[in-house]
Formats: sequence, structure tokens, C-alpha cells
Amino acid sequence: MSDSMMLNGSCHCGAIVFEAQANPNRVVICHCTDCQKMSGGPYRSIVQVKEAQFTLLKGEPKPYFKVGDSGNRRELSFCADCGSHIYATSVVDDVAKGERMLGIRTGLLAEIAQLPPKSEVWAQSKVAWAENISGLPSVDKQS
Ligand SMILES: [Zn+2]
Ligand SMILES: [Zn+2]
Repeated sequence: MSDSMMLNGSCHCGAIVFEAQANPNRVVICHCTDCQKMSGGPYRSIVQVKEAQFTLLKGEPKPYFKVGDSGNRRELSFCADCGSHIYATSVVDDVAKGERMLGIRTGLLAEIAQLPPKSEVWAQSKVAWAENISGLPSVDKQS
């Protein structure tokens, strides 16, 4: 697999549009309780992108600041109109702007199908049933 690909992302309402150059091997699933709470789901899938390789094409994400379970301060950016989560990154006082790593939420990306996760973090708070949903009855759309 190539170690670089172009990603095209947008929030649900389209107010925020971006592109980024990323290494598709840098995809992780995060099971931390903050990801569960903020995404509203059992875990979150994230691709790590260098801030210098992230280009905002439209809109301005709104930041929300938290102190993570690890003790690190984090900036979480979301669309102020539709609430879609865009990325999480370091706070500018801790790491210079442009040198930060952005953890982009893969659900925003047109290329999500090409971004399978390579590892998991915060497995201690993993929801057990999220491990295997492949055996569930399924329909192509919501019945
Ligand atoms: Zn939006
Ligand atoms: Zn997390």
C-alpha cells in the first residue's frame, strides 16, 4: 500500500470542507471514554495527519478544549452548525501550530473504505460487543 494518499473530507452540513495528505497506515481505533461520549458510538476511528498537510477549503471548525484521561490538553474541533467532529489535536501552547498532528475522524472522509484500522488504543474501556458485529442480521438500509 502507498504510504501517502489524498483525503477529501466534509462535515454533515457541508459548512466545513478540507483535504489532507495522509499515510493510510496511520489509522487507529480509539476506545477511550471521551471518544465514546463525544461520538455517541462505542469507539472512534481516526487517521493521523500532519497539520501542515491539512488544508481547510471551506469554513472554520469551532474548538472545544479538554484535559484527556492521559492528562494531556486536547483541542477538539467540530462544525458549529451540524456538530460533526472534525479532528482532535494538541493545544497550540503545547505544540507549535503547523507541527501538530491532527486526529481526523475517518467518518468525514470520502476515502473511509480505504482506511481500515491498523491498531487500537484505550482498549481498557473497549465495549465488549463492539468486537464482533459481523454475525448480526442486517439489511441494506434502515428497515
Ligand atoms: Zn457542518
Ligand atoms: Zn479516544
